[in-house]
Amino acid sequence: MQGFVERKAKLIADAKANDEPVGIAKHTSSNLFRYAPADRRGTGLDLSDFHHCLSLDAQARTLDVEGLTTFEQIVDYTLPYGLVPRITPELKHITIGGATVGIGIESNCFRYGFVHDGLIEAEVLMPDGRVVLASANNEYADLFYGLPNSYGTLGYILRARIHLMPAQPYVHLATRRFHDVDAFLDAMRAATESDEIDFVEGLFLDKDRLYVTCSRFCASVPRVDDIVREHVFYKLLLARPDVYLTTKDYLFRYDPEWFWNLPESWPYDLFRRYAPARFRNSGFYKRYTTRKNALRRRLGLRDGSDEEPLIQDWELPWDEAAAFTRFALREVDLSGRPWIATPIRTPRSPPLYPVRENTLYYNLGCYCYVRKPGNKPPYWYTRILDDECFARGGLKMLYSSTFLSREKFDRIYNGPAYAALKARYDPNGVFGDLYSKAVLEP
Ligand SMILES: Cc1cc2nc3c(=O)[nH]c(=O)nc-3n(C[C@H](O)[C@H](O)[C@H](O)COP(=O)(O)OP(=O)(O)OC[C@H]3O[C@@H](n4cnc5c(N)ncnc54)[C@H](O)[C@@H]3O)c2cc1C
Repeated sequence: MQGFVERKAKLIADAKANDEPVGIAKHTSSNLFRYAPADRRGTGLDLSDFHHCLSLDAQARTLDVEGLTTFEQIVDYTLPYGLVPRITPELKHITIGGATVGIGIESNCFRYGFVHDGLIEAEVLMPDGRVVLASANNEYADLFYGLPNSYGTLGYILRARIHLMPAQPYVHLATRRFHDVDAFLDAMRAATESDEIDFVEGLFLDKDRLYVTCSRFCASVPRVDDIVREHVFYKLLLARPDVYLTTKDYLFRYDPEWFWNLPESWPYDLFRRYAPARFRNSGFYKRYTTRKNALRRRLGLRDGSDEEPLIQDWELPWDEAAAFTRFALREVDLSGRPWIATPIRTPRSPPLYPVRENTLYYNLGCYCYVRKPGNKPPYWYTRILDDECFARGGLKMLYSSTFLSREKFDRIYNGPAYAALKARYDPNGVFGDLYSKAVLEP
């Protein structure tokens, strides 16, 4: 804690209230999938020192942690105590601050809600250089509830106190195949009602190949499968009804392949097997592809422009899940890569991400590049899936490309509540505006 107090004092001394737009500088790679031109990103506020786990209370099952600490650091710190965050996003370099303001999910969201539902209090750096403590019951309760889906535009989390949950050393993943959408969804929904199951997730490739994986913590397992060097996780899952992982590998199971984005070819097979551990993660892979594409563009080579990213998460009330799934399968060809489905139930409705509380939602995620359809405008698939989702009363996360008028954006994401928060906490717009950040900058 002493280190945090000193880092905070230095930051406050350095921070000047100014009218320049501000963005943050950090050491780890961002998990946003929007690319603002560098000159529009604002001056960097260097928060990269705020990446420490501060103190763990094993009895209360809470952790005090700095805002830019990655989930890998957190899990490495808490797992030896038999504890992990209630929700741990699947990529190692996502930070507690980024996932809290950006809507973080995992396969146990049906039990614990989103990442931000595990937040107990946060020390937040405000646009005027103050640091305030926001919690559900103090004078900054509106800020506390407003953080989810604010993407740093209300303030930056320097320290968070979060809930932890008990964990065992291993996870057993049991997968069943289904041959139609309704049976697949019924199985997922039923699993969310079982006390025996800790994690529920669905993967599907087409309307005949749908898989539900129900997983639970275990003290011991008959074997441990290797998904870093030996197997590509999702292929192993679809091939074997029983998979056994260490808990850390389970939590970050999609990290080594950045879901399914590491190509299947002999050079990459060698890379999988022999690359130093520090390269076998999504942070390295994202930096690598970004630089590779920039270089190809500079050299005038093909830059993948016949493909477009379809990297999105949509959230719909469960009753709409079947129709949305069928729409996705009918309209989009992922060339053999899976869609991913997660059931979610949140205990409270955040003002800026107005899902209904205590209601089962269906999260559909797509994390890959798809071939562009002929004669269609850019981001065609994103646009049609977004429209379908919004028409069915759903909403989507804003970490990736979004195409909405300001009026529609305000209607979906509660513009009046956001305006009230900005008026109170950032009247000069120093930390930027959510619509500009989410829609205008990609
Ligand atoms: C391919 C892909 C896969 C994803 N998969 C998952 C997943 O499996 N599970 C999941 O939960 N999410 C997933 N996400 C979404 C991810 O959680 C969000 O993009 C999240 O906001 C990223 O956080 P970050 O720590 O990487 O922060 P960054 O990407 O660096 O920043 C994200 C936003 O948060 C703001 N921010 C960062 N730190 C702070 C802070 N301390 N205080 C306030 N604001 C801050 C930044 O200003 C920025 O607007 C995925 C995203 C992508 C692109």
